[in-house]
Amino acid sequence: MSADAPITQDVMTIPRKVPAGPANLVGMTRAAMRDALIAIGTPEKQAKMRVGQIWQWIYQWGVRDFYAMTNLSKAFRAELAEAFVIEIPEVVSKQVSTDGTRKWLVRIAGGHEVEVVYIPEEGRGTLCISSQVGCTLTCSFCHTGTQKLVRNLTAGEIVGQVMMARDDLDEWPEHGKRTEDARLLSNIVLMGMGEPLYNFENVRDAMKIAMDPEGIQLSRRRITLSTSGVVPEIARTAEEIGCQLAVSFHATTDEVRNKLVPINKRWNIAELLDVLRTYPKVSNSERITFEYVMLDGVNDSDEDAYRLIELIRGIPAKINLIPFNEWPGAPYKRSSNNRIRAFSEIVYKAGYASPVRKPRGEDIMAACGQLKSATERERKSRREIAAETGLN
Ligand code: SAH
Ligand code: SF4
Repeated sequence: MSADAPITQDVMTIPRKVPAGPANLVGMTRAAMRDALIAIGTPEKQAKMRVGQIWQWIYQWGVRDFYAMTNLSKAFRAELAEAFVIEIPEVVSKQVSTDGTRKWLVRIAGGHEVEVVYIPEEGRGTLCISSQVGCTLTCSFCHTGTQKLVRNLTAGEIVGQVMMARDDLDEWPEHGKRTEDARLLSNIVLMGMGEPLYNFENVRDAMKIAMDPEGIQLSRRRITLSTSGVVPEIARTAEEIGCQLAVSFHATTDEVRNKLVPINKRWNIAELLDVLRTYPKVSNSERITFEYVMLDGVNDSDEDAYRLIELIRGIPAKINLIPFNEWPGAPYKRSSNNRIRAFSEIVYKAGYASPVRKPRGEDIMAACGQLKSATERERKSRREIAAETGLN
Protein backbone atom coordinates (compact mmCIF):
# COMPACT_ATOMS: atom_id res chain seq x y z
CA MET A 1 0.00 0.00 0.00
CA SER A 2 1.53 3.35 -0.94
CA ALA A 3 1.89 6.08 1.67
CA ASP A 4 -0.54 8.30 -0.19
CA ALA A 5 -3.28 5.72 -0.31
CA PRO A 6 -6.67 7.24 0.48
CA ILE A 7 -7.68 7.67 4.11
CA THR A 8 -11.25 6.93 3.33
CA GLN A 9 -12.93 5.22 0.47
CA ASP A 10 -15.92 6.49 -1.37
CA VAL A 11 -19.19 5.85 0.29
CA MET A 12 -21.66 4.33 -2.09
CA THR A 13 -24.76 6.40 -1.90
CA ILE A 14 -27.44 4.05 -0.83
CA PRO A 15 -30.88 5.44 -1.53
CA ARG A 16 -32.74 5.40 1.76
CA LYS A 17 -36.43 5.37 1.66
CA VAL A 18 -38.03 7.94 3.92
CA PRO A 19 -39.67 5.68 6.48
CA ALA A 20 -43.30 5.53 5.62
CA GLY A 21 -45.76 4.34 8.20
CA PRO A 22 -45.31 3.83 11.91
CA ALA A 23 -42.15 5.07 13.62
CA ASN A 24 -39.92 2.65 15.50
CA LEU A 25 -39.70 3.34 19.22
CA VAL A 26 -36.45 1.39 19.52
CA GLY A 27 -33.51 3.77 19.46
CA MET A 28 -35.44 6.89 20.43
CA THR A 29 -34.00 8.82 23.35
CA ARG A 30 -36.42 9.40 26.25
CA ALA A 31 -36.85 12.98 25.04
CA ALA A 32 -37.62 11.88 21.48
CA MET A 33 -40.10 9.29 22.71
CA ARG A 34 -41.84 11.93 24.80
CA ASP A 35 -42.19 14.20 21.77
CA ALA A 36 -43.49 11.29 19.72
CA LEU A 37 -46.14 10.49 22.34
CA ILE A 38 -47.24 14.11 22.55
CA ALA A 39 -47.50 14.20 18.77
CA ILE A 40 -50.08 11.40 18.87
CA GLY A 41 -52.14 13.21 21.46
CA THR A 42 -50.76 12.10 24.82
CA PRO A 43 -51.30 14.98 27.27
CA GLU A 44 -48.01 16.73 28.01
CA LYS A 45 -48.40 16.21 31.73
CA GLN A 46 -48.61 12.44 31.31
CA ALA A 47 -46.00 12.04 28.62
CA LYS A 48 -42.96 11.57 30.85
CA MET A 49 -44.67 8.91 32.92
CA ARG A 50 -45.88 7.07 29.83
CA VAL A 51 -42.35 7.09 28.43
CA GLY A 52 -41.14 5.54 31.69
CA GLN A 53 -43.74 2.78 31.45
CA ILE A 54 -43.15 1.98 27.80
CA TRP A 55 -39.38 2.19 28.29
CA GLN A 56 -39.49 -0.44 31.01
CA TRP A 57 -41.57 -2.79 28.90
CA ILE A 58 -39.21 -2.49 25.96
CA TYR A 59 -35.82 -2.33 27.63
CA GLN A 60 -36.31 -4.01 30.98
CA TRP A 61 -38.63 -6.87 30.11
CA GLY A 62 -37.95 -7.19 26.38
CA VAL A 63 -41.63 -6.86 25.44
CA ARG A 64 -42.39 -5.89 21.82
CA ASP A 65 -46.15 -6.24 21.79
CA PHE A 66 -48.06 -3.13 22.82
CA TYR A 67 -51.05 -5.25 23.84
CA ALA A 68 -48.90 -6.97 26.51
CA MET A 69 -48.19 -3.64 28.25
CA THR A 70 -50.77 -4.26 30.90
CA ASN A 71 -50.26 -1.12 32.97
CA LEU A 72 -51.46 1.02 30.06
CA SER A 73 -55.12 1.45 29.21
CA LYS A 74 -56.49 -0.67 26.38
CA ALA A 75 -57.32 2.43 24.38
CA PHE A 76 -53.81 3.83 24.76
CA ARG A 77 -52.27 0.49 23.76
CA ALA A 78 -54.35 0.53 20.60
CA GLU A 79 -53.24 4.09 19.82
CA LEU A 80 -49.61 3.08 20.30
CA ALA A 81 -50.00 0.05 18.07
CA GLU A 82 -51.47 2.26 15.40
CA ALA A 83 -48.73 4.88 15.50
CA PHE A 84 -45.57 2.93 16.36
CA VAL A 85 -43.66 -0.29 15.99
CA ILE A 86 -41.05 -1.89 18.25
CA GLU A 87 -38.58 -3.39 15.84
CA ILE A 88 -35.05 -4.74 16.01
CA PRO A 89 -32.82 -6.12 13.24
CA GLU A 90 -33.88 -9.48 11.89
CA VAL A 91 -31.61 -12.50 12.36
CA VAL A 92 -30.66 -13.99 9.01
CA SER A 93 -28.33 -16.69 10.26
CA LYS A 94 -26.56 -17.83 13.38
CA GLN A 95 -23.37 -19.81 13.79
CA VAL A 96 -21.99 -21.28 17.00
CA SER A 97 -18.27 -21.97 17.30
CA THR A 98 -16.81 -25.02 19.02
CA ASP A 99 -15.68 -22.61 21.77
CA GLY A 100 -19.22 -21.32 22.36
CA THR A 101 -18.76 -18.02 20.48
CA ARG A 102 -21.93 -17.09 18.60
CA LYS A 103 -22.05 -15.07 15.43
CA TRP A 104 -25.24 -13.72 13.95
CA LEU A 105 -25.81 -12.09 10.63
CA VAL A 106 -28.61 -9.55 11.00
CA ARG A 107 -30.53 -7.68 8.35
CA ILE A 108 -31.28 -4.00 8.70
CA ALA A 109 -33.51 -1.67 6.69
CA GLY A 110 -32.64 -1.57 3.02
CA GLY A 111 -31.58 -5.23 3.05
CA HIS A 112 -28.06 -4.53 4.34
CA GLU A 113 -26.45 -6.94 6.72
CA VAL A 114 -24.07 -6.66 9.66
CA GLU A 115 -22.45 -9.17 11.95
CA VAL A 116 -22.75 -9.42 15.71
CA VAL A 117 -20.55 -11.66 17.87
CA TYR A 118 -21.07 -12.98 21.41
CA ILE A 119 -18.06 -14.25 23.32
CA PRO A 120 -18.86 -16.21 26.49
CA GLU A 121 -16.27 -16.07 29.24
CA GLU A 122 -16.00 -17.29 32.81
CA GLY A 123 -18.75 -15.48 34.73
CA ARG A 124 -19.37 -12.92 32.00
CA GLY A 125 -19.94 -12.49 28.31
CA THR A 126 -19.07 -9.83 25.78
CA LEU A 127 -21.14 -8.75 22.83
CA CYS A 128 -19.25 -7.25 19.92
CA ILE A 129 -21.55 -4.96 17.96
CA SER A 130 -21.31 -3.05 14.71
CA SER A 131 -21.88 0.66 14.16
CA GLN A 132 -21.78 0.83 10.36
CA VAL A 133 -22.32 -1.41 7.39
CA GLY A 134 -18.70 -1.68 6.25
CA CYS A 135 -16.36 1.19 7.11
CA THR A 136 -15.31 4.31 5.24
CA LEU A 137 -11.77 3.93 6.54
CA THR A 138 -9.25 1.74 4.79
CA CYS A 139 -6.96 0.18 7.38
CA SER A 140 -4.80 -2.12 5.32
CA PHE A 141 -5.00 -5.15 7.65
CA CYS A 142 -8.78 -5.04 8.18
CA HIS A 143 -11.27 -7.09 6.22
CA THR A 144 -14.13 -4.69 6.94
CA GLY A 145 -12.04 -1.88 5.43
CA THR A 146 -12.11 -3.60 2.05
CA GLN A 147 -15.90 -3.54 1.95
CA LYS A 148 -17.27 -0.87 -0.34
CA LEU A 149 -20.82 -0.76 0.85
CA VAL A 150 -21.15 1.71 3.71
CA ARG A 151 -23.96 3.20 5.69
CA ASN A 152 -24.37 4.37 9.24
CA LEU A 153 -26.55 2.27 11.48
CA THR A 154 -29.38 4.04 13.28
CA ALA A 155 -29.43 4.13 17.08
CA GLY A 156 -32.24 1.55 16.97
CA GLU A 157 -30.17 -0.77 14.81
CA ILE A 158 -27.24 -0.45 17.20
CA VAL A 159 -29.10 -1.06 20.47
CA GLY A 160 -31.25 -3.55 18.55
CA GLN A 161 -28.20 -5.81 18.24
CA VAL A 162 -28.01 -5.96 22.02
CA MET A 163 -31.73 -6.75 22.23
CA MET A 164 -31.42 -9.43 19.57
CA ALA A 165 -28.59 -11.08 21.51
CA ARG A 166 -30.60 -10.98 24.75
CA ASP A 167 -33.45 -12.66 22.88
CA ASP A 168 -31.17 -15.41 21.63
CA LEU A 169 -29.52 -15.88 25.03
CA ASP A 170 -33.00 -15.87 26.57
CA GLU A 171 -31.86 -13.24 29.03
CA TRP A 172 -34.82 -10.93 29.54
CA PRO A 173 -35.91 -11.14 33.15
CA GLU A 174 -39.43 -12.29 33.77
CA HIS A 175 -41.78 -9.34 34.16
CA GLY A 176 -41.58 -7.94 37.67
CA LYS A 177 -38.38 -9.80 38.59
CA ARG A 178 -35.04 -8.14 39.08
CA THR A 179 -32.29 -8.51 36.48
CA GLU A 180 -29.88 -11.23 37.59
CA ASP A 181 -26.53 -9.95 38.79
CA ALA A 182 -24.43 -12.47 36.88
CA ARG A 183 -25.31 -11.85 33.30
CA LEU A 184 -24.56 -13.83 30.19
CA LEU A 185 -24.36 -10.55 28.29
CA SER A 186 -22.43 -8.39 30.74
CA ASN A 187 -20.21 -6.30 28.47
CA ILE A 188 -20.46 -4.55 25.14
CA VAL A 189 -17.59 -3.73 22.83
CA LEU A 190 -18.02 -1.51 19.78
CA MET A 191 -15.47 -3.53 17.85
CA GLY A 192 -17.55 -5.00 15.08
CA MET A 193 -17.93 -3.40 11.71
CA GLY A 194 -17.44 0.32 11.30
CA GLU A 195 -15.84 3.33 12.92
CA PRO A 196 -18.15 4.26 15.82
CA LEU A 197 -16.90 7.83 16.02
CA TYR A 198 -17.97 8.47 12.42
CA ASN A 199 -21.49 7.70 13.58
CA PHE A 200 -21.26 9.55 16.86
CA GLU A 201 -24.84 10.60 17.63
CA ASN A 202 -26.38 7.23 16.87
CA VAL A 203 -23.72 5.36 18.84
CA ARG A 204 -24.15 7.77 21.76
CA ASP A 205 -27.93 7.46 21.81
CA ALA A 206 -27.76 3.66 21.55
CA MET A 207 -25.24 3.37 24.37
CA LYS A 208 -27.27 5.74 26.56
CA ILE A 209 -30.18 3.37 26.11
CA ALA A 210 -28.01 0.36 26.99
CA MET A 211 -26.84 2.17 30.14
CA ASP A 212 -30.23 3.44 31.25
CA PRO A 213 -30.91 2.25 34.81
CA GLU A 214 -34.52 1.42 34.00
CA GLY A 215 -33.65 -0.76 31.05
CA ILE A 216 -30.74 -2.88 29.94
CA GLN A 217 -28.69 -1.38 32.78
CA LEU A 218 -25.16 -1.98 31.63
CA SER A 219 -22.68 0.18 33.49
CA ARG A 220 -20.60 2.56 31.37
CA ARG A 221 -17.61 0.67 32.75
CA ARG A 222 -18.77 -2.40 30.87
CA ILE A 223 -19.00 -0.67 27.51
CA THR A 224 -15.86 -0.19 25.44
CA LEU A 225 -15.78 1.89 22.30
CA SER A 226 -12.93 1.18 19.92
CA THR A 227 -11.79 3.91 17.56
CA SER A 228 -9.10 4.14 14.93
CA GLY A 229 -8.36 7.63 16.27
CA VAL A 230 -10.98 10.20 15.24
CA VAL A 231 -9.35 12.81 17.46
CA PRO A 232 -12.07 15.53 17.60
CA GLU A 233 -14.71 13.00 18.60
CA ILE A 234 -12.66 11.42 21.38
CA ALA A 235 -13.14 14.36 23.75
CA ARG A 236 -16.86 14.27 22.98
CA THR A 237 -16.96 10.57 23.78
CA ALA A 238 -15.53 11.29 27.22
CA GLU A 239 -18.11 13.99 27.87
CA GLU A 240 -21.22 12.61 26.24
CA ILE A 241 -20.89 8.84 26.61
CA GLY A 242 -18.29 8.29 29.34
CA CYS A 243 -17.62 4.68 28.38
CA GLN A 244 -14.29 2.90 28.29
CA LEU A 245 -12.09 3.75 25.33
CA ALA A 246 -9.94 1.48 23.21
CA VAL A 247 -7.71 2.89 20.51
CA SER A 248 -6.44 1.05 17.47
CA PHE A 249 -2.85 2.13 17.90
CA HIS A 250 -1.02 -0.59 15.97
CA ALA A 251 2.23 1.26 15.22
CA THR A 252 4.89 3.34 16.93
CA THR A 253 6.00 5.61 14.10
CA ASP A 254 3.85 7.84 11.92
CA GLU A 255 5.41 6.26 8.86
CA VAL A 256 4.11 2.79 9.71
CA ARG A 257 0.84 3.99 11.23
CA ASN A 258 0.09 5.98 8.06
CA LYS A 259 0.14 2.70 6.19
CA LEU A 260 -1.74 0.57 8.68
CA VAL A 261 -4.29 3.10 9.94
CA PRO A 262 -4.46 5.79 7.25
CA ILE A 263 -6.53 8.13 9.42
CA ASN A 264 -3.13 8.79 11.02
CA LYS A 265 -2.41 11.07 8.06
CA ARG A 266 -5.19 13.34 9.29
CA TRP A 267 -4.46 13.05 13.02
CA ASN A 268 -0.99 11.75 13.76
CA ILE A 269 0.34 9.88 16.78
CA ALA A 270 1.25 13.04 18.70
CA GLU A 271 -2.21 14.56 18.24
CA LEU A 272 -3.86 11.29 19.17
CA LEU A 273 -1.79 10.90 22.33
CA ASP A 274 -2.60 14.46 23.34
CA VAL A 275 -6.33 13.85 23.41
CA LEU A 276 -5.87 10.45 25.05
CA ARG A 277 -4.05 12.06 27.96
CA THR A 278 -7.20 13.89 28.99
CA TYR A 279 -9.67 11.07 28.33
CA PRO A 280 -9.48 9.16 31.63
CA LYS A 281 -10.02 12.30 33.69
CA VAL A 282 -12.90 13.69 31.67
CA SER A 283 -14.69 10.36 31.37
CA ASN A 284 -13.74 9.28 34.89
CA SER A 285 -12.50 5.96 33.55
CA GLU A 286 -9.49 4.14 34.84
CA ARG A 287 -7.40 3.49 31.81
CA ILE A 288 -7.30 3.39 28.06
CA THR A 289 -6.84 0.18 26.12
CA PHE A 290 -4.27 0.41 23.36
CA GLU A 291 -5.04 -2.20 20.74
CA TYR A 292 -2.01 -3.43 18.89
CA VAL A 293 -2.36 -5.93 16.08
CA MET A 294 0.75 -8.09 15.73
CA LEU A 295 1.89 -8.15 12.11
CA ASP A 296 4.93 -10.21 11.24
CA GLY A 297 7.93 -7.99 10.45
CA VAL A 298 5.83 -4.81 10.26
CA ASN A 299 5.27 -3.51 13.79
CA ASP A 300 6.38 -6.31 16.11
CA SER A 301 10.09 -5.68 16.88
CA ASP A 302 11.62 -5.11 20.32
CA GLU A 303 12.30 -1.53 19.21
CA ASP A 304 8.58 -1.09 18.57
CA ALA A 305 7.81 -2.33 22.06
CA TYR A 306 10.27 0.11 23.61
CA ARG A 307 9.00 2.99 21.49
CA LEU A 308 5.44 2.16 22.49
CA ILE A 309 6.29 2.39 26.18
CA GLU A 310 7.94 5.76 25.64
CA LEU A 311 4.99 7.12 23.68
CA ILE A 312 2.31 6.21 26.20
CA ARG A 313 4.28 7.22 29.27
CA GLY A 314 1.97 9.00 31.71
CA ILE A 315 -1.26 7.61 30.27
CA PRO A 316 -3.03 5.00 32.41
CA ALA A 317 -3.07 2.19 29.89
CA LYS A 318 -3.45 -1.46 29.12
CA ILE A 319 -1.93 -2.84 25.93
CA ASN A 320 -4.08 -5.41 24.21
CA LEU A 321 -1.97 -7.41 21.78
CA ILE A 322 -4.10 -8.88 19.01
CA PRO A 323 -2.56 -11.71 16.96
CA PHE A 324 -3.44 -10.74 13.39
CA ASN A 325 -6.51 -12.58 12.18
CA GLU A 326 -5.72 -13.56 8.65
CA TRP A 327 -8.39 -13.36 5.98
CA PRO A 328 -8.29 -14.55 2.37
CA GLY A 329 -6.05 -12.22 0.38
CA ALA A 330 -4.73 -10.32 3.41
CA PRO A 331 -1.39 -8.59 2.75
CA TYR A 332 0.09 -9.48 6.18
CA LYS A 333 1.01 -12.46 8.31
CA ARG A 334 0.46 -13.03 12.01
CA SER A 335 3.57 -12.61 14.16
CA SER A 336 4.92 -15.81 15.67
CA ASN A 337 3.87 -16.74 19.19
CA ASN A 338 7.45 -16.24 20.39
CA ARG A 339 7.58 -12.76 18.92
CA ILE A 340 4.24 -11.84 20.51
CA ARG A 341 5.44 -13.21 23.86
CA ALA A 342 8.71 -11.23 23.68
CA PHE A 343 6.83 -8.02 22.80
CA SER A 344 4.33 -8.58 25.58
CA GLU A 345 7.12 -9.22 28.08
CA ILE A 346 8.83 -5.88 27.34
CA VAL A 347 5.58 -3.97 27.74
CA TYR A 348 4.69 -5.89 30.90
CA LYS A 349 8.08 -5.21 32.49
CA ALA A 350 7.50 -1.50 31.92
CA GLY A 351 4.49 -1.77 34.22
CA TYR A 352 1.60 -2.18 31.77
CA ALA A 353 -0.83 -5.06 31.56
CA SER A 354 -0.17 -6.58 28.14
CA PRO A 355 -2.63 -9.43 27.58
CA VAL A 356 -2.59 -11.26 24.28
CA ARG A 357 -6.12 -11.47 22.94
CA LYS A 358 -7.17 -15.07 22.54
CA PRO A 359 -8.63 -15.60 19.11
CA ARG A 360 -12.21 -16.74 19.62
CA GLY A 361 -14.63 -18.22 17.17
CA GLU A 362 -11.96 -18.72 14.53
CA ASP A 363 -13.83 -21.61 12.94
CA ILE A 364 -16.76 -19.31 12.15
CA MET A 365 -14.67 -16.26 11.10
CA ALA A 366 -15.93 -14.32 14.11
CA ALA A 367 -12.63 -12.76 15.09
CA CYS A 368 -11.93 -9.04 15.17
CA GLY A 369 -11.39 -7.52 11.79
CA GLN A 370 -12.82 -10.48 9.92
CA LEU A 371 -16.37 -9.28 9.84
CA LYS A 372 -17.82 -8.50 6.51
CA SER A 373 -21.39 -8.77 5.44
CA ALA A 374 -22.62 -11.75 3.50
CA THR A 375 -24.22 -9.57 0.87
CA GLU A 376 -20.82 -8.06 0.22
CA ARG A 377 -19.19 -11.47 0.04
CA GLU A 378 -21.80 -12.56 -2.44
CA ARG A 379 -21.35 -9.44 -4.48
CA LYS A 380 -17.60 -10.05 -4.58
CA SER A 381 -17.88 -13.69 -5.46
CA ARG A 382 -20.34 -12.98 -8.22
CA ARG A 383 -17.90 -10.47 -9.62
CA GLU A 384 -15.09 -12.99 -9.30
CA ILE A 385 -17.15 -15.61 -11.05
CA ALA A 386 -17.91 -13.13 -13.82
CA ALA A 387 -14.18 -12.43 -14.18
CA GLU A 388 -13.37 -16.12 -14.28
CA THR A 389 -15.90 -16.85 -16.94
CA GLY A 390 -14.77 -13.93 -19.07
CA LEU A 391 -18.10 -12.13 -18.63
CA ASN A 392 -18.03 -8.62 -17.24
N1 SAH B 1 -13.23 0.81 13.67
C1 SAH B 1 -12.90 0.62 15.02
C2 SAH B 1 -13.56 -0.57 15.67
C3 SAH B 1 -13.69 -1.85 14.90
S1 SAH B 1 -12.29 -2.83 14.65
C4 SAH B 1 -11.41 0.55 15.17
O1 SAH B 1 -10.71 0.43 14.18
O2 SAH B 1 -10.93 0.63 16.30
C5 SAH B 1 -11.90 -3.58 16.23
C6 SAH B 1 -10.39 -3.90 16.39
O3 SAH B 1 -9.99 -4.98 15.54
C7 SAH B 1 -9.52 -2.73 16.02
O4 SAH B 1 -8.47 -2.57 16.94
C8 SAH B 1 -8.98 -3.16 14.68
O5 SAH B 1 -7.82 -2.45 14.36
C9 SAH B 1 -8.78 -4.62 14.90
N2 SAH B 1 -8.64 -5.40 13.67
C10 SAH B 1 -9.13 -5.13 12.44
N3 SAH B 1 -8.78 -6.10 11.57
C11 SAH B 1 -8.07 -7.01 12.26
C12 SAH B 1 -7.48 -8.26 11.92
N4 SAH B 1 -7.57 -8.76 10.70
N5 SAH B 1 -6.84 -8.94 12.89
C13 SAH B 1 -6.78 -8.46 14.15
N6 SAH B 1 -7.35 -7.31 14.54
C14 SAH B 1 -7.98 -6.58 13.61
FE1 SF4 C 1 -12.63 0.62 9.85
FE2 SF4 C 1 -11.68 -0.12 12.24
FE3 SF4 C 1 -11.40 -1.72 10.09
FE4 SF4 C 1 -9.99 0.54 10.25
S1 SF4 C 1 -9.83 -1.25 11.62
S2 SF4 C 1 -11.10 -0.20 8.43
S3 SF4 C 1 -11.44 1.88 11.27
S4 SF4 C 1 -13.31 -1.14 11.06
